[in-house]
Amino acid sequence: MQFDNKSGIQLQQVDFFGSSASTEAPTFGFPAGRPMLRWHFNSRSIYRLGITGMARSVIFFLLVILTNLSLALLHPFSRSRLVLVAVIYGAVTLLILYMLFHPRNQWLVSNRSRVDGAGCLALTFDDGPDPVDTPKLLDLLREKGVKATFFVVGKRADQYPEIVRRAWAEGHLVANHTWSHYSLFCFLMPRRLRAEIERGTESVRRSCGVRPRLFRSPVGLRHPLLGPYLKDAGLEYISWTIRTRDTLTANSRVLARRILNKAASGDIILLHDRLPGGTDAMLEALPRVIDELRERGFEFVLAGPREDAGGTLQPAECEPAL
Ligand SMILES: [Zn+2]
Repeated sequence: MQFDNKSGIQLQQVDFFGSSASTEAPTFGFPAGRPMLRWHFNSRSIYRLGITGMARSVIFFLLVILTNLSLALLHPFSRSRLVLVAVIYGAVTLLILYMLFHPRNQWLVSNRSRVDGAGCLALTFDDGPDPVDTPKLLDLLREKGVKATFFVVGKRADQYPEIVRRAWAEGHLVANHTWSHYSLFCFLMPRRLRAEIERGTESVRRSCGVRPRLFRSPVGLRHPLLGPYLKDAGLEYISWTIRTRDTLTANSRVLARRILNKAASGDIILLHDRLPGGTDAMLEALPRVIDELRERGFEFVLAGPREDAGGTLQPAECEPAL
């Protein structure tokens, strides 16, 4: 789902607080059903105000500058001023960190973390291709008849283009996970940020013959300029609803349970087909996860349209989950 950024200044439901428009907005631990305490930072409302793209990036930078300027309030120094500055600085810093690090935050870049269709789930695999583990995963997916989405790192795709080509040829979706997977992604200079996006796209095009339409940043990190740059590149940001934490566990049973306990219709599940210690736990857990979710009536779909499928999700429809 892309937001309509051209809706102009339509002020219907301009509710920054307590809105029920987004089930994904954070509640900061407050119990649901108590409207006075439920505080939603609902940036979808900002879109309705017509504050889009670069304007949101500018507001973000102003927020950073004004936060630091608030230190001037310490002169002349007093205890009450110190408390005031600490509150301002702390609160806005938390807000900035939320904007940069929360995987489903919509402020700096609109993103999608679900798939359409009742009973649909999307498996997504980041950080590959890996010369050993990705082919094993592709074998497994072929055996199970499951299609998935691979967010590949551009320079690894250039190293192992035959693996990326195989994934594409077998009906999976291949997407852009930047060129180098730079871990401090949110601090990249603008030129490097654009290069990371463009070189990632070119790498997929070289391997598969099509330009990818989907993008995910390293660790889901945001950058103040990511929204406008992705728009220029024709890419949609895809987040997730289930972080499996497969990077932290070597126990396949724990991993399977984590997914099976959470899975619900529309979820996008984050996994990795390349990890420093290997992906044995994921490869062991996945057959059980696929079988059990199918028994529950779920169907596995791609996270977005295949470029050669006329822009429709594959498969187009899912049966309702039992
Ligand atoms: Zn990654």
